[in-house]
Amino acid sequence: MECREITEGSTTFTAPVQDENTQFPPGSAPVFYNTKMEFNRDMTVLLTKIIQPADYLDAMAATGVRGLRIANEAKIPVTINDRDEQAVRIIRANAEKLGGDISVTCDDANRLMCTARFDSIDLDPFGTPVPFLDAASRAAKHFLFVTATDTAPLCGAHFKAGCRRYFATPRNTEYHAEVGLRMMMGAMARELVKYDRGMKPILSFAKSHYFRSHVRVIGKVTAADETIGQMGFVMQCPKCLYRAEQKGSLLPKTHICPHCGVETIPVGPLWMGPLQEKEVLAEMQEILPELQFGKKRQMEKLLTYLLAEPETCTYYDYHIVSRNMKVSPPNMEELIASLNDAGYYTTRTHFCDTGIKTTAPLHVIEEMIRLW
Ligand code: SAM
Repeated sequence: MECREITEGSTTFTAPVQDENTQFPPGSAPVFYNTKMEFNRDMTVLLTKIIQPADYLDAMAATGVRGLRIANEAKIPVTINDRDEQAVRIIRANAEKLGGDISVTCDDANRLMCTARFDSIDLDPFGTPVPFLDAASRAAKHFLFVTATDTAPLCGAHFKAGCRRYFATPRNTEYHAEVGLRMMMGAMARELVKYDRGMKPILSFAKSHYFRSHVRVIGKVTAADETIGQMGFVMQCPKCLYRAEQKGSLLPKTHICPHCGVETIPVGPLWMGPLQEKEVLAEMQEILPELQFGKKRQMEKLLTYLLAEPETCTYYDYHIVSRNMKVSPPNMEELIASLNDAGYYTTRTHFCDTGIKTTAPLHVIEEMIRLW
């Protein structure tokens, strides 16, 4: 196996050379290392520097880069695990070279999480995290971090696979990126509440080919009940862009679109609660300038977006709204300013370049677009 030395953040490690032309899907490489996930890892390293879990399990580690970085850059004791022996040989070599408080195990992640508990657990599988959520929901004492790369089922492009895996109906809407993230978080919530535990998201986002959420786990029945109270549905009109949010129920209530007079279709159940703990994001933003990260500018941009976004559960693609009205899209900044001037809190969104998050209802957005 041809290997090379790589530095991410301030951590240097060895990873096998990945031949992106011959090794597809990516998981077919002998031991997986994906440069496209550096940003994902950067965000978790920055977050753990702030929240300082007592320990951290990198449950499916490949080269171990995630755990190595948490140990080295956030100074947290870590356990790095993979079931693949080749991967574990690389992890051990990397851990020995790096030093620090690092344990390495070669085990099935579910078996490991059934026999040991960790203050924070990170699930970073190929595709869906669903097969690991049950064990992780019991084994994580205070924090659970999850990535999902099965965006097609989560966004509704593979509708039946989404229903089977997540026991929710996704639907391919123009705000599918947010539905995908909230559907993954809904699955996390469901697994936790089974064990009378609740969750409180700290940092959650969607990016190109994956969803990522970091949540606090709260081991109280009241927290579990509050978590169920944050589940709900987006009720989507099948004929127009109108949608309404229903929160606090595991059953959708009939809702008629006021524009078309037809019954709306439930999307969900989804996590309808906050996606971020903004105080923590503000702290991350504050310490970021003095730190070394490969994707620092992207991190700054994401944090700025996430701190500003209102807590609505969908966004509007103003190009699609304009197209439906058969008019040219207005200037985005001017549209956002006019909605804010009218008293509706509105921002850009990290979910989509042409998306706006707003407290304004659809008919107000249309009125503003018509003014151009
Ligand atoms: N976390 C890594 C990173 O940031 O570079 C990437 C992990 S890769 C997407 C998924 C890894 O999970 C693979 O190395 C695979 O061997 C491992 N894996 C898959 N199923 C597993 C299981 N049941 N238990 C432990 N490891 C598993």
